[in-house]
Amino acid sequence: MKAELEQLIALQKADISLRRIRAELESLPRRRAEIEKEFDQRAFEFKALETQRDEARAKRAQFEKEIAETRTHAEKAERDLMSSTNPKTYEAAIREADAAKKHISELETKILEQMEAAETAEKTIAEREPEIARMRAERDEQLKSLEERVSTDAEALAARREERERMLANLPPVLKSMYSRISARIPGGVAVAEARNNSCTACFITLRPQMMADVRRGEEVIVCDNCARILYYVPAEQQSRQATSTAPVS
Ligand SMILES: [Zn+2]
Repeated sequence: MKAELEQLIALQKADISLRRIRAELESLPRRRAEIEKEFDQRAFEFKALETQRDEARAKRAQFEKEIAETRTHAEKAERDLMSSTNPKTYEAAIREADAAKKHISELETKILEQMEAAETAEKTIAEREPEIARMRAERDEQLKSLEERVSTDAEALAARREERERMLANLPPVLKSMYSRISARIPGGVAVAEARNNSCTACFITLRPQMMADVRRGEEVIVCDNCARILYYVPAEQQSRQATSTAPVS
């Protein structure tokens, strides 16, 4: 029975390790979103500047298109003016040519304004570029190590799963089903607990002396009265070694 209890303890360790890896894998997408959000927040002002610059450029392009159209219009008005034969069309052509000139002058002012706005934004962008480049590099570095973590975790998960299946297959069927039943029922799935100093280390209840003696003998499967975990005993001389080997892997 002692050897079988050891198998159960090993299985328990494998399960804890599996759960830890799985929990970490599940937390990584959230971590990724946090990194990106943090960058977005820090880069917010910078992005606003880029938007300002891009909008100014877009407006300028729009005004330039409009100016070209107005020029075509003005040229047509000039031609009409030259070829007009009666006062009515002549006056209409003059009015149109004047209106077009005025519009062109307004558009030129607007274009200058947008050019200035774009330049001002661009200047500030250039000043802040080193800072943003550093932030971007920092974010990329964090994302890269996160991706590496995902792949090492995925590999570890696959390896541990295989290991766990092997362990489970080696257990006597009775223990196998007992273990599965208990770990499924208990929150956190820890089915095996050490009995130490006359108490269960999982639920902290004091164990009856007879029960403690039975656990110590390790000849049969003893289950905690309170939390229903399978109890095992580690002799004092092995405890320090056991403590190091059960320490959570980080
Ligand atoms: Zn207990």
